[in-house]
Amino acid sequence: MIQDIFPHKLDNSFKNLKPNENDFAVYFCGDSVLVKEEKDGNYSFTKIGQFGSKIKFENYVYMFSVDNERYFLLRNGDLSGFTGECKLLPLSDVRKMKYGYFKKMYFLICTAWHLHSWYVDNRFCGRCGRILIHGESERMLYCKICAAKVYPRISPAVIVGVINGDKIIMSKYAGRDYKGYALLSGFAEIGETLEQTVEREVMEEVGVKVKNIKYYKSQPGGIDGNMLAGFFCELDGDDTLTVDKNELAMARWFRRDEIPVEDDGFSLTFEMIGKFKNQTF
Ligand SMILES: [Zn+2]
Repeated sequence: MIQDIFPHKLDNSFKNLKPNENDFAVYFCGDSVLVKEEKDGNYSFTKIGQFGSKIKFENYVYMFSVDNERYFLLRNGDLSGFTGECKLLPLSDVRKMKYGYFKKMYFLICTAWHLHSWYVDNRFCGRCGRILIHGESERMLYCKICAAKVYPRISPAVIVGVINGDKIIMSKYAGRDYKGYALLSGFAEIGETLEQTVEREVMEEVGVKVKNIKYYKSQPGGIDGNMLAGFFCELDGDDTLTVDKNELAMARWFRRDEIPVEDDGFSLTFEMIGKFKNQTF
């Protein structure tokens, strides 16, 4: 899946580090990320040293490390001293680079984008309107005036494989760019467990009851910044589907031998579909 970048290892523990010239800088401009194109077609980030002395070290925020590489988010810098050959890659193109050796880069861009979006959306205190300051002992923003604390926003959502014998419900979203198959899914609401989210979302989207809800695996939600929790469950009672046309373009039962997609080695959804299709869970 997206987070499986073995043999590399992400260390996202908080450290209040100062950058040096050989660390990597990740810079977002609008919905694009600054990358360097390598000779083999892969992309890499640029080194902090290439941005020149106009950018003060205070503009860099430590995010995470991968193996011995340290990655800093570059914020609000004057890029006029930049010396490298780079280009701004739209995130819509980043979504296409998720396979093969692009996977590590994809995962790092997603994780950096999640943090970047959080910092951009939380410049000021939502309680009193003053500027938020970076925490020094944990990944947190705080307000010196009213002591409000703001932690990174991660929105929990479920992905649900509803099973009835040798059949599973697959669907397609309505009104989204992604037109392929998916499992049922939805965000957790305040005041419910993830198992209750599963029951509610299945009832809302296709109008059936479920039982024997079992947790499968989770996945950080990529560019969308969510936390996806996968569940399998069994149909409880009538198998007639009443599809919510506001949410879904289609949904129906698929027998194992009818399933038209495979595990793509990337998404939790397709791993779950592949597990069911190949009877390996
Ligand atoms: Zn405040």
